[in-house]
Amino acid sequence: MADQVDSLKSRDIKESVQISINNEISLSPETFHVVAGPCAVETPETTLACARGVALSGAALFRAGAYKPRTSPHSFQGLGRDGMEILTRVRREVGLGIVTEVMEPGAVWEVAEVADVLQIGTRNMSNFPLLREVGKLARPVLLKRGMMATLDEFLHAADYILAGGNTNVILCERGIRTFETYTRNTLDLSAVPALKEMTGLPVVVDPSHGTGRRSLIAPMAKAALACGADGLLIEVHPDPDNSWTGDGVQSLDLAAFDDLMKELSALGRHFGRTIAMAEVPASLADS
Ligand code: PEP
Ligand code: MN
Repeated sequence: MADQVDSLKSRDIKESVQISINNEISLSPETFHVVAGPCAVETPETTLACARGVALSGAALFRAGAYKPRTSPHSFQGLGRDGMEILTRVRREVGLGIVTEVMEPGAVWEVAEVADVLQIGTRNMSNFPLLREVGKLARPVLLKRGMMATLDEFLHAADYILAGGNTNVILCERGIRTFETYTRNTLDLSAVPALKEMTGLPVVVDPSHGTGRRSLIAPMAKAALACGADGLLIEVHPDPDNSWTGDGVQSLDLAAFDDLMKELSALGRHFGRTIAMAEVPASLADS
């Protein structure tokens, strides 16, 4: 009991935590990291094409779910283990590190074999056994804010991971439920500077789930950079209108993602932030 009482809490972290991902990428106040990819792992062809595209545009990491938390049990639930194999190919062939979701404590070690960053989705922010299990890893964890969680509850959830000894926690603002229906969620950008007043843990923003609308991704992504976020999590799909989950409506295509990255790069210069790009094989442009 005593060690739980004494363990590090997110609010006690005053300095910016520099999280190293895969010994390559380091989140720091001078850099800005863009994580991009489809909602779900689909075919190897679509997934690899997406990974190549986002890598060439300057993404730092690739995102895609093999285990999907869907509102309906009748919706596509992800490719599971087959999807994890496709993600392994993405890392090997494209060179991007992988961010992917883990939904249950029993799956943490399987997902950690592939993931450079384990994602915990909004619906699992209060899954305390899951939080405790990822707390046993040294691997970074991207913790999404519960769609009905206050910032205080969000930081307590992060504390469950810290209590296990894992201080590599990245907070993700992904929108909260309000009375507004035009957007899927209300993206709470004030959470970014507010969380930064409360903790040194890095904060990234997901304008895809945060708005549910493709047209709002770029403006909110730029606003996230301007208000001090450490990075973005963006859904990108080579053919959004034919994505396997309904999330094509909140995904950029590869050309729109490329345009956004150019804009972020220019904006980053203004704020003294460099867009951190992954090292990708030189041959990638020709493949
Ligand atoms: C996702 O990132 O694919 C996802 C399911 O997000 P959220 O948990 O924020 O809904
Ligand atoms: Mn999604």
